[in-house]
Amino acid sequence: MTEDTISFDDLGLSPELLKAVGDAGYTQPTPIQEKSIPLVLMGRDLLGCAQTGTGKTAAFSLPIIDILSQGRARARMPRALVLSPTRELAQQISENFTTYNKFHELGQAVLIGGESMPDQQRALAKDPDVIIATPGRLIDMFERGKVMLGGVKILVIDEADRMLDMGFIPDVTRIVELLPRIRQTLFFSATLGKEIRALADAFLINPKEVSVAPPASIAQGVTHTMISVPKLPKEKRAALRKVMAGEDVQSALVFCNRKKDISVLRNSLRRHGFEAEELHGDMAQHRRTETLAAYKNGDIKLLVCSDVAGRGLDIQGVSHVFNFDVPNNAESYVHRIGRTGRAGREGRAITLVTS
Ligand code: AMP
Repeated sequence: MTEDTISFDDLGLSPELLKAVGDAGYTQPTPIQEKSIPLVLMGRDLLGCAQTGTGKTAAFSLPIIDILSQGRARARMPRALVLSPTRELAQQISENFTTYNKFHELGQAVLIGGESMPDQQRALAKDPDVIIATPGRLIDMFERGKVMLGGVKILVIDEADRMLDMGFIPDVTRIVELLPRIRQTLFFSATLGKEIRALADAFLINPKEVSVAPPASIAQGVTHTMISVPKLPKEKRAALRKVMAGEDVQSALVFCNRKKDISVLRNSLRRHGFEAEELHGDMAQHRRTETLAAYKNGDIKLLVCSDVAGRGLDIQGVSHVFNFDVPNNAESYVHRIGRTGRAGREGRAITLVTS
């Protein structure tokens, strides 16, 4: 069989899942799905090097659904745990899981910070098979005795490099220590640097390594340029407006490095007739969710944001990314400008550079 003839039918998934996948409109597995799904179904540990946008969520969710549906639910004991660095990514994984779980009856609970504890406790009381969580909230729930982790058979650590950047590794390590030693672990990261490999060594047993798209690569349809601008904030903002006015902006993300600059820039843009909104980690979670939804459905055209929006989010149709500030490292640059040019579309990324 040649690679380009592989279809979902060849991967060993159940007929129900194949139907759910077909209903989702997927005709062919993506490379990470093609490589990972058979291995996960075999029970192997996985070290996956893949970025968001490659279809990695389905690469782990589909086989997990089939594995869990063959076993039995256990009261108060979730059997799969997915750890995500950000709340937004956790919600996105949960949405995907719901799509794929259409013909199965697996229960799920999403445990993320910034949202109501009682609601999440109610979801836990329904004995979910799968928990999708950010590390801090999961530990909090565990300490309150609301969730037991002794029945977890499959652990997914998603975006491990992001966990590392955000300082979550001690929490993740603590959680892993609460899980049974005999389990299957699927570990995903967009990059596989030294530190990430050391973590993988600690969490995985004899893993299969699968890799798609070289780390830190930029979609083909993206043209990225930089423009030299004055350093003085007022003049820099004027320069951004000038750049934006010269572009056919359909939908843009404007990244700032510091949270405090985001509101200033957003208000300034609005004063000058640009309908801009903001998105950053200091906002209440419900506002983050609402703003992101409004941006995704086109009600908001311009979103001034921090790196919270730079990673993991699957937003279609972003025509432009503007870096109001040069990001602090190359990875962030790739993640930010990777928000545009998705799914084979054209995109433009413009970075403002000061002396
Ligand atoms: P992810 O990398 O998991 O965030 O997935 C990125 C996007 O690709 C999501 O919108 C998925 O719904 C979509 N997707 C995943 N697998 C496939 C597939 N085999 N065919 C088409 N779209 C897919």
